[in-house]
Amino acid sequence: MLELAILGSGSSGNSALVCLGETRILIDAGLSARQLCLRLENLGVDPDRLSAIVLTHEHGDHTRGIDVFCRKRSIPIYGTTHTCAVVRENVKSEVPWHHFEAGDDFSIEGVNVESFSVPHDAVDPVGFIFRCSQSSVGVVSDVGHVTRMIIDRLKGVNTLFVESNYDEVMLQNDTHRPWSTKQRISNRHGHLSNDQAAGLVSEVASSNLTRVVLGHLSSDCNAPELARRVILKKLESEGHSHVQVDCAMRKDPLPLCKTALESPDSTENGSEHISEEKSAKPAQVCDSTSASAEPPQVSVEEWSQTEWAF
Ligand SMILES: [Zn+2]
Ligand SMILES: [Zn+2]
Repeated sequence: MLELAILGSGSSGNSALVCLGETRILIDAGLSARQLCLRLENLGVDPDRLSAIVLTHEHGDHTRGIDVFCRKRSIPIYGTTHTCAVVRENVKSEVPWHHFEAGDDFSIEGVNVESFSVPHDAVDPVGFIFRCSQSSVGVVSDVGHVTRMIIDRLKGVNTLFVESNYDEVMLQNDTHRPWSTKQRISNRHGHLSNDQAAGLVSEVASSNLTRVVLGHLSSDCNAPELARRVILKKLESEGHSHVQVDCAMRKDPLPLCKTALESPDSTENGSEHISEEKSAKPAQVCDSTSASAEPPQVSVEEWSQTEWAF
């Protein structure tokens, strides 16, 4: 069964991990190489033994760790042809690049990976569905607006990672960002608001969906409890109160968490499945309070970058 962990999420850096047994796929590498190693080791995953890195798009908060991280490691990197072309300009390391086109499906050591286009101000941004015979994980980060294709592709997934970037009122009232930046965030190729994320989640929700992880939360134009509340309220109003909703944060990784079984019976016991501990790291239990578990140490400097760019 697939497992999902979030190493970090936010405009300062994004990276997640999907595992199936010994297959370990890193989704984006927007944290420093040091933090990537630290957080992987904390999950009980050897950074030298990743199966692949897959890229959603080229923005620095999703790719800035690649060059240093790959200096000592030969890890295949999967990205669309256009995305790889841009990322390669800043990567001096020898990297085995694997190009695909948006919409292509491919396989990485037993995990099927399905890609699809998403609207965002990048050269060729994509979302992914990771699938094995037992479960599926949908990932959409950095999306300007929700398209019919995104909904159709994600329908039926067991676990959904989706960005929930900002609260519309908080963004409007923000006095730090220039008007042009606010415009960029909220336009059709920027980021999803809490309400837009809730709309997507409710469209995608089915009896198979047991967990939603919200990511890329703005540190000053959103709040985890607010984002959770908006999504939970929408899910409950549509009869999907069985779905667990967690927030991924910049500093506090979410531990590896099993996705639910696809059989209808399993959804009745979804919380049991998603609360299973990973045996290698019994201290990291997967539940919504996991953020209070000991996170890896993160230096203040690493997170002090301005958060407006992406
Ligand atoms: Zn981003
Ligand atoms: Zn982006």
